[in-house]
Amino acid sequence: MPKLTINGQAVDVPAGTNLIEAARKIGVEVPHYCYHPALSIAGQCRLCMVDVEKTPRPTIACNTLAADGMAVWTETDRVKETRKSIMEFHLINHPLDCPVCDQAGECGLQIYYMKHGLYDPRMRDEKVHKPKAVPLGAHVILDAERCILCSRCVRFCDEVTGTGELGIFSRGDESEIGLFPGKELANKYSGNVVDICPVGALTDRDFRFAVRVWYLDSATSICPGCARGCNIEVHVNRRRPHHNDGRRVARLKPRFNADVNRWWICDDGRYGFAFVDDTSRLVIPRWSRDGALGDATWEEAIAAVAGALQRFAPDEIGVVASPKMANEDLWALRRILESRGIRRVAFRVPPRTPGDEDTLLIRRDKNPNSLGAELLGLEGDGAAILAAARARQVKCLWVFGHDLLASAWPVTETDAALRALELLIFTGPSANATSERAHFTLPAAAWVEREGTYTNFEGRVQRFRQAVQPLGQALPEWDILGRVLRALGVEAGATRAERWFRELASGVPAFTGLTYQSIGDGGAALSAPPGGGAAGSHLVSGHPPMGPGSRSPLP
Ligand code: SF4
Ligand code: SF4
Repeated sequence: MPKLTINGQAVDVPAGTNLIEAARKIGVEVPHYCYHPALSIAGQCRLCMVDVEKTPRPTIACNTLAADGMAVWTETDRVKETRKSIMEFHLINHPLDCPVCDQAGECGLQIYYMKHGLYDPRMRDEKVHKPKAVPLGAHVILDAERCILCSRCVRFCDEVTGTGELGIFSRGDESEIGLFPGKELANKYSGNVVDICPVGALTDRDFRFAVRVWYLDSATSICPGCARGCNIEVHVNRRRPHHNDGRRVARLKPRFNADVNRWWICDDGRYGFAFVDDTSRLVIPRWSRDGALGDATWEEAIAAVAGALQRFAPDEIGVVASPKMANEDLWALRRILESRGIRRVAFRVPPRTPGDEDTLLIRRDKNPNSLGAELLGLEGDGAAILAAARARQVKCLWVFGHDLLASAWPVTETDAALRALELLIFTGPSANATSERAHFTLPAAAWVEREGTYTNFEGRVQRFRQAVQPLGQALPEWDILGRVLRALGVEAGATRAERWFRELASGVPAFTGLTYQSIGDGGAALSAPPGGGAAGSHLVSGHPPMGPGSRSPLP
């Protein structure tokens, strides 16, 4: 481990660490644009200059490895002057359009100009003009005038996705980023180039002009789009707290986690939150009485569902839980099943179209908590439950979230099963063809409207937090199920997600010892991870995330 000093402070780092990362280790920020820890070194922006003892000129920190005995200075007069000159170079042709730029407020140029530039502009000539507002693909738009040619986006497409759509074309001050002929920025991770672009050259078509970043609130969360469970931040428009005002969730951003998704998320996950404020959301409990469907109060709906669970024999009740439910919900459901002796339970419903998968992040299983549901003992044969419904052995079916009619199961058979039921109960955040057939619909909060945990495919338990209020009267599933339990006369004291988790951790061996505190924001491994492995949990540390509240503008 080389041991060196940075600004007089001793630090030892693993061999092969560059000076930007060595400085970061002791909280010293070396400003940079082109360097990114996940990409190859380009040495392009020249901003990360530092003074190294016995070196005649300032040196770029990104391409200098820490060596034993090295003495590095990041704030000498010479370094500061060099940085200032480099900032001036970067801004020579940069348009002064911050007031209309989506990046304003989280722009590396703005931030570093205020921190390290602050020179009086000397540029008197007309700036070089380049293409503006050029769509590169479905999600990303380019303003070539704002580009500082750091090449992060080019290296991302070359090195991370391997798709190579982007390049730098022409020479000198005519150089510009663009697509290779016939190409479109259509890889499954294209939105990440917006995150890593340090300026407003690449912006997000979905987020563009939607809200100023200083009106965003942020909550740490987990993407529910597949079994990977990428760590994300949910950015919420503070000025639109109500559904009727428009979209509340403004965007999802990746949150660094070395053990899960590093700096990235896929486009399906990034843009997969539209359902949260969609008109298809279920917002009020409904029940059918005397052949007509009408609104109910929660008290009426809970009493009726508990009554039904008591009226039917346990063997006449089937439950199709969902791998989109959180661990806390599934535990509350398990307590209902145990209290009534209900054994016909399943949670897997085969999708009509098999999910895609790759070696970077995307998992074939498009559910965030299949492993959690499995570990909680909810594995069962869903097709057999429907067959039992057709045979009128199952008379009451409780479906969570799924649209059984849109699954890979034959529609005619599913339809016959639903028709044969005496009672169909549906709980979920959104309406679908199955909920349309339900006698009771109990509206569930979307994942951004509540807190809970998911267990990803590798056995990592991860917390997601509430970012917005539930729509209408929707409640978290653990709350709905807890109320049903109490209506069944079972003691269920937990009225917070954390309390349900505590109960679960003491009831399911794989979760032993886990608490919300030990899971933290980085997640924790199960005590008995699938396929073996080290026991116990560990927290992840990493670079501070980008976005509101982040202290460092660039990873
Ligand atoms: S578009 Fe952004 S990420 Fe790409 S080279 Fe320009 S400044 Fe860098
Ligand atoms: S890979 Fe999966 S968990 Fe990660 S962002 Fe995409 S859908 Fe979400």
